[in-house]
Amino acid sequence: MKIFINPGHAPNGQPDPGACNPYTGLQESEVAFCVGEKTVDYLNAVGIDTECLQSDSLAEICSKANSSEADLFISIHCNSAGTAAANGTETWACAGSAAGRQLAQCINDQIVDALDTTDRGVKIATPGINGLYVLSNTDMPAVLVELAFISNAEDVVLLTEQQDEFARAIARGVTDYFN
Ligand SMILES: [Zn+2]
Repeated sequence: MKIFINPGHAPNGQPDPGACNPYTGLQESEVAFCVGEKTVDYLNAVGIDTECLQSDSLAEICSKANSSEADLFISIHCNSAGTAAANGTETWACAGSAAGRQLAQCINDQIVDALDTTDRGVKIATPGINGLYVLSNTDMPAVLVELAFISNAEDVVLLTEQQDEFARAIARGVTDYFN
């Protein structure tokens, strides 16, 4: 069993930090990196192999994932919106992938349970309409999890202080999926 973990955006935020909280300065790339590293630790602790890559190149991410022989692909992001009130957790899967949808549901449920975030549910990305590159271009069941909103005053506290809980929840979602 092997899981490919992709913390979203560029290492150290260079050149792309993803979304940022305008008040605390917290960067999405940093949250994704820390949660990704911790998720690797929790998966390894239960005997699941991992490969982890944060890269500014989506093509590199997909080609490394596709040659990794990983069983599942998980990309980790934070959401952001112009309206500060938007909050909660959502997880994306690619249209047509029942396995991806199932994995997304397992991870989303675990995060909402553990962090008590608003459940925005599983979302479906349809290539050509609202497709997501890493979901459309990976060969295995793949999900993109938006942990919470970095632009929301309450969610950003969770993203700052509860990274370990997010990671634990993702790992539990993976084991739920296999069970
Ligand atoms: Zn992102």
